[in-house]
Amino acid sequence: MSDKISVLYTEDEVNARIRELGEQISRDYAGKSIHLIGILKGATFFTCELAKRITIPVTMDFMSVSSYGDSTESSGVVKINKDLDDPIEGREVLVVEDIVDTGNTLSYLLDNLQKRGSSSVKLCALLDKPERRIKDVKVDYTGFVIPDAFVVGYGLDYAQKYRNLPYVGIVEPGME
Ligand code: 5GP
Repeated sequence: MSDKISVLYTEDEVNARIRELGEQISRDYAGKSIHLIGILKGATFFTCELAKRITIPVTMDFMSVSSYGDSTESSGVVKINKDLDDPIEGREVLVVEDIVDTGNTLSYLLDNLQKRGSSSVKLCALLDKPERRIKDVKVDYTGFVIPDAFVVGYGLDYAQKYRNLPYVGIVEPGME
């Protein structure tokens, strides 16, 4: 049976917001270069689209982390599955994430990256669910603040499906 997904943000809305974020980041980091760290796999689509909208020099790396816990709630105990390819010492780092939920994963990750000697570490998230926050995480650039709902698309999955949807949608409860 196919899941029912209702559109939360259309492809045009997401792309327009990413364009704005790219412009804002380019202004804020004017005269510098920026090192984007995309978090696999959810943030891949967002990282690539964002990178295309940044007009200052960009380098990119990717990291994969997983959080121990049940399937719906992260635990705060984070495992690095794939670390960075390159050192970040002296770089202006911008972590690019799909969504900040409890904050457990990002809280660990930002702390870990801050100890590696970069000039700065900031966070850009496409989506933010502040109602769900357990750990305090500062989101420097936010695409959209959303209510507490399970979203898919634009890189976000439901059991590994729907990452390729070009929009952000909500999986309707009870329809799966
Ligand atoms: P946190 O540690 O902030 O609780 O969890 C962050 C991770 O949980 C995200 O990177 C994402 O993989 C997953 N996640 C949290 N909320 C959602 C959601 O609404 N939809 C999907 N597909 N993943 C989510």
